[in-house]
Amino acid sequence: MGTQVATHMASIVLFGPPGAGKGTQAALIMAETGLPQVSTGDMLRAALAEGSALGIEAKKYMDAGLLVPDSVIIGLIEVRVEQDDASGGVLFDGFPRTIAQAEALSLIEDVDAVISIEVPDERIVDRICGRYSCGDCGAVYHETFNPSAEQGICDACSSMKLKRRADDNEETVRSRLEAYHSQTAPLAQWYDERGKLIIVDGDKDIAEVGNDILAGMAGFRD
Ligand code: ADP
Ligand code: AMP
Repeated sequence: MGTQVATHMASIVLFGPPGAGKGTQAALIMAETGLPQVSTGDMLRAALAEGSALGIEAKKYMDAGLLVPDSVIIGLIEVRVEQDDASGGVLFDGFPRTIAQAEALSLIEDVDAVISIEVPDERIVDRICGRYSCGDCGAVYHETFNPSAEQGICDACSSMKLKRRADDNEETVRSRLEAYHSQTAPLAQWYDERGKLIIVDGDKDIAEVGNDILAGMAGFRD
């Protein structure tokens, strides 16, 4: 099944509101395509964990549920796509989030497909507030919808470093949703006009959404 998708794809964008399931489905698409995941949110959190000036600056925006300025994000991406593992394309997760970011990306990378995972706002708060993930391998869980098999232990790598994100609280989620609707959602039409958009209903269980994504990708290339 994997080869059918993998042989044709350059870079792919995973698009959708916070909590749509981008990170969750990224694992499946990476396994199918071999593309490395590039999550700007993860890159910003890594920069903060290192204590870099960029990370400390970004934290102000992240804590408030606002988008980090385009210049910062585009700078990070320009450096990331130059790395060896990105030469065959990447799987963008949470980037681009503004038209300006998409325009900048179009100058540096071929985007084959944008997979838009659609989830209604009323589902998002529950998803975000129950999220936790593995600090070692990044596997994503949910306390109700997708718990790890053994409490406190990562299924994927057996790490015990399961953690919650500082910005995963109800107040910040509301701002993040607002930022999504005003600044990010218009990008769906932008990519649709360019013939790149694949829409998937993300309000189903995780396995079904994954199957729909793979079907959408295969159909897209036929
Ligand atoms: P995003 O990367 O888009 O912010 P995540 O993949 O981190 O979203 O998912 C957000 C939360 O919702 C996680 O706790 C995840 O386990 C859970 N989740 C993801 N997909 C689904 C789904 N289809 N149904 C229920 N919960 C889901
Ligand atoms: P995420 O991990 O994708 O949920 O992103 C967490 C936070 O990081 C967001 O709420 C933003 O503050 C910031 N962020 C991540 N990616 C971007 C981006 N492409 N553009 C602007 N801000 C971003």
